[in-house]
Amino acid sequence: MAENLNPFAIAQQQLDEAAEIMELDKTAHAILREPMRSLTINIPVRMDDGSVKVFRGFRVQYNTARGPAKGGIRFHPEETIDTVKALAAWMTWKTSLADIPFGGGKGGVICNTKEMSERELEALSRGYIRALGRYIGPDIDVPAPDVYTTPQIMSWMMDEYAATNHTNDPFSVITGKPVEVWGSEGRKDSTAMGGMYVLREAARSKGIDLKSARIAVQGAGNAGMYAYLLSKKLFGSKVIAISDSKGGIVDEDGIDESKLLKAKEETGSVTGYEGGTKVSNEQLLEWDVDVLIPSAIENQITGDNADKINAKIVLELANGPVTPDADKILHENKIYDVPDFLVNSGGVIGSYFEWVQNKEGYYWTESEVYAKLDSIITRSYNQMEATRNKLKSQGKSVSPRAAAYVIALERVATAMKLRGWY
Ligand code: GLU
Repeated sequence: MAENLNPFAIAQQQLDEAAEIMELDKTAHAILREPMRSLTINIPVRMDDGSVKVFRGFRVQYNTARGPAKGGIRFHPEETIDTVKALAAWMTWKTSLADIPFGGGKGGVICNTKEMSERELEALSRGYIRALGRYIGPDIDVPAPDVYTTPQIMSWMMDEYAATNHTNDPFSVITGKPVEVWGSEGRKDSTAMGGMYVLREAARSKGIDLKSARIAVQGAGNAGMYAYLLSKKLFGSKVIAISDSKGGIVDEDGIDESKLLKAKEETGSVTGYEGGTKVSNEQLLEWDVDVLIPSAIENQITGDNADKINAKIVLELANGPVTPDADKILHENKIYDVPDFLVNSGGVIGSYFEWVQNKEGYYWTESEVYAKLDSIITRSYNQMEATRNKLKSQGKSVSPRAAAYVIALERVATAMKLRGWY
């Protein structure tokens, strides 16, 4: 039977499997299978040609038992409510595993940013915040950037919130802002930086020397591009492959930084790289490497191609890149697949630091941010492995993802129980 690739069906399946492993209370399970609040909004935007286009947007507040909803906003041409629901569920498990005082949420707008002017993008961003009205706020729901949204977009959204809420202190309503309007030092690469700390731990436990490791990165956006730069800078690893939505490039000598930046600048894509071999995204995923870093979007490694993955470690820097069928195959093939809601949690941990600093009105240095990030994400990694070992000693051999789920669900269920929700 073909695998169901609906992201929300996948999120529910992962939840169901973990609930069974940990024997989660039935009522807690029922609450956690659906979002607490799911909003669909219509956003009219005056376009540059004078016409008005109506965009559809979403915001899902999945669970707020542990704190305000927290999660990014995607501007994506193929956005659906089910994708946003899945991503909001994953945010709930992400903030719980990191043990930071937030619940989970996510937003999205169906749009193609590549076809929009800067003015149209600003109008859409402001319209999104106006349409959400009182349903967001520093203590209610705190958005952030994600696929195709930027610090500039966060800044417009924050400004719109200030105008509609009559406040001159709107900063903690949204994270991922430019540093000049009280974003946090270190936030722009905190997703990839967190992923690197996890990679350091994973490589150590698998006995892989990162100095001589060969790495492939799928995706050259905010997460992937920094993963490329940081794995070279921090470990001296050789990144031999990188891709974007147009395709990929392999250079066995290591992708050259200046040639890569030139390709992106002059052709808008990594595929404009001079030299090397052009490959498809599928071929890149199957390349013989030590570490594969999927950093693009969901459903990239599925039941169809998981058997062909040649890496020793899969480091899920994207949200949802590995489906449940693929998860089982990778586990059977003894490939160490480290789950998204641990690997990419550096993004929301960086956002947490930004929110704390905004609330305090007191700001930290970049090295303070990185040190705190390292300590939180390394703690999460160690807790995941300890839980996996504990389950193993009970005769349950589970994937790293399942172990991380058990910890995250336990914490959310306990908060709901203590608050009297069941
Ligand atoms: N969009 C990022 C994620 O998926 C960051 C979310 C946040 O900072 O709130 O984790």
